[in-house]
Amino acid sequence: MSPSDDELFAFAAPESGPDVQSHDSLHSHARAHWPVLVVDDEPDVHAVTLLALRGVVTENLPLAFAHAYSAAEALAVLRDRRDFAVAIVDVVMEREDAGLQLVRQIREELGNVALRIILRTGQPGYAPEVETIRQYDINDYKTKAELTRVRLFTSVTMAIRSFALINQLNANRRGLEQVLSCMRELGKPEGLTRFAAGIVTQLRALLQVEEECLVCAAMEMPDTPAMLLAAAGRLSSSVGQPLADIPEPNVRQRLSRTLSSRQSSFTDGACIFVPGERQQALAAYIDIRRPLDNTERGLLDVFCSNISVAFENLQLHGTISHLAFADELLGLPNRNSLAQALNAKLDEPYTLALVDLDSFSDINSLLDNSFGDDVLRAVSKRIRAAFSPTVHVSRVGPDVFGLFGPCAELHVGAVMDLFALPFEVPDSAPLRLSATSGWLGVEVEKPSAATLLKNVGAALKRSKQLHRGQALWYQPELASEARDRMQLLSELRAALSSSGLFLEYQPFVNLQTGAFVGAEALLRWRRDNGSLVPPDRFIALAEQSRLIIPLGNWVLRSAMRWRAAMADMVGPEFRVAVNISQVQFREPDFLERLIEFAAECGVQPHWVELELTESVVADNIALTAQKVHALRQQGFAIAIDDFGTGFSSLSVLQHLPVDRLKIDRSFVSGDSARSSGMAVAYTVLTLAKQLGVKTIAEGIETLEQRDQLAAAGCDDGQGYLFSKPVDPVAFQALLLA
Ligand code: C2E
Ligand code: MG
Ligand code: MG
Repeated sequence: MSPSDDELFAFAAPESGPDVQSHDSLHSHARAHWPVLVVDDEPDVHAVTLLALRGVVTENLPLAFAHAYSAAEALAVLRDRRDFAVAIVDVVMEREDAGLQLVRQIREELGNVALRIILRTGQPGYAPEVETIRQYDINDYKTKAELTRVRLFTSVTMAIRSFALINQLNANRRGLEQVLSCMRELGKPEGLTRFAAGIVTQLRALLQVEEECLVCAAMEMPDTPAMLLAAAGRLSSSVGQPLADIPEPNVRQRLSRTLSSRQSSFTDGACIFVPGERQQALAAYIDIRRPLDNTERGLLDVFCSNISVAFENLQLHGTISHLAFADELLGLPNRNSLAQALNAKLDEPYTLALVDLDSFSDINSLLDNSFGDDVLRAVSKRIRAAFSPTVHVSRVGPDVFGLFGPCAELHVGAVMDLFALPFEVPDSAPLRLSATSGWLGVEVEKPSAATLLKNVGAALKRSKQLHRGQALWYQPELASEARDRMQLLSELRAALSSSGLFLEYQPFVNLQTGAFVGAEALLRWRRDNGSLVPPDRFIALAEQSRLIIPLGNWVLRSAMRWRAAMADMVGPEFRVAVNISQVQFREPDFLERLIEFAAECGVQPHWVELELTESVVADNIALTAQKVHALRQQGFAIAIDDFGTGFSSLSVLQHLPVDRLKIDRSFVSGDSARSSGMAVAYTVLTLAKQLGVKTIAEGIETLEQRDQLAAAGCDDGQGYLFSKPVDPVAFQALLLA
């Protein structure tokens, strides 16, 4: 067959009968041909392979075929005979990875390192582990569909050439091992420059050239001038420059001539040529002052033909890694890419910033996701346009951008300015946005990317906790705060299984009759050192770590058990209220758990009121409405806690069948009440009346507050006026008093 015959190597039944050679005929002619072992569980594949390779003569000898129809059979054949030059191995046979296992056995158990292996697979989507290919010195890997006649021919020819050379050079074991280990090193997909640097290193080792001897590699691509990718010796400072600019005319000429003639040459030093995919090519020059002997020439040949395979694989990997380093939605680099940029050497101090859009999840949940995407596009466009290309702009989280650039250009003012004007978003009025950011100064001598990202992340997190819409610079104390929180979290985890946690109960009072109509269970944590940690501090921590789920379950059961135990002392309508955090509420089996706990503790569902905050409710209105509906159908009561503090209160209520609104204490006794009287509380009460929803006011501290609320029609009240939260024993005393 002719190598120009580049039709698809169709794995269908051949038109003419295949000339299958008998197994026996091979034994006696070990030197008269190149023995090739075809390993495949489909007989057709054997036939077509023979057809494709019929008549091939390479390195002056014809091929001779032997056949195995399973990995086990192949292993037996190879154990018997060690003269095979090439094995063409199917990946999927008896098992999904039978071929890969066979390769491992050939290399490891049989210790056969000379045999060249071509892997092929019928399943286009089935990629063998990259590890295996890298580790076991596989010559080529192709799916059957991409293995055209020409490619199979080329692949086998190359493999045989390698095998012949490996054999011929077998005397020089050290050199051989060197080549194999080069391939392992170069096979690691670590990027083009590392690859080129690897070639330089390996060439020096292979030819044992002296320290100062020049070795360099250049690369050419179709529309770009060739560039110096790596160099050892005199030219190391020219790495990264166009080939045309390197100061040594002789080296420049050798490399460009090799790239344009696409041929290695070995007079006056050596310059090797390595072809790759898509017209790309590498050339490497070694300024060796002595003539190369045949062994060295042979080694270089094997080296070249092998690295071209590694080079192709690397380019393939290049396209994959492009995806790994880019964000598809915005076409910006992603977090991996930022990490890479952070690891690069700096010549001047840089600034690193994380910029987080405020209320983006509201934009996404109140409007739809495609609108959210448009908003992100508008923001990313403005950020990218505002800075020069020296500033690395990436998307590191759903609504978080990473910026890394010289201090002079990248500073807080520059980022704040970005949000001064509204954004143009398709199908929307101009949109005002704000962002919260964390900042970190990066010195020339800098820690690892991981540390930098961790620190700037801590600054952003703190900034979000402190003041939305502003910027905060990282300070080392933030790291110690983070450590403190970790410490606290691990203590909290321990407290959950010891007896560090307990509940206090604060009564609900009917404002007309003064009767106790219920109580809110409030979680308390006493640390081993005796100090009480306020819930505001540890609940958020537990939420972030999802510890809130076992913690919340513990609260629910304890509160229900308490209510069951109180059954004789309180009326049948007495309710126990339990605070439910968003993370807990979102658990898919939340309702099942509740029903299970109620049955286990012997309480009726309507004795239990769940307090959800507005943020829980606003998070995903449709889903919440559905869940609330299901909970109420089971008989549980739902109250909206801290009502009036969220921004979407009114719209939310129309879709949500809740039992009770709990007016936030800031409108009763807090700052807001002091500045504007109880105006908000009155509005809420009016609204609730219209919707037919019951009400309770938190934070009642004075008789005057109680009387005003009672007069305005508020049903129940809770607050220090009646009682602080107390332990169960004290609660009983309150009831009796
Ligand atoms: P919350 O649900 O709004 O609970 C009412 C808070 O107001 C309690 O604070 C209570 O002690 C306090 N309070 C009651 N009466 C008055 C008063 O007259 N004046 C003033 N100034 N404050 C009053 P606490 O116990 O510190 O709890 C704080 C928050 O921690 C709770 O706010 C609730 O959101 C959360 N929390 C407490 N226990 C749990 C729990 O078991 N699970 C969850 N997820 N959150 C809890
Ligand atoms: Mg509450
Ligand atoms: Mg509250």
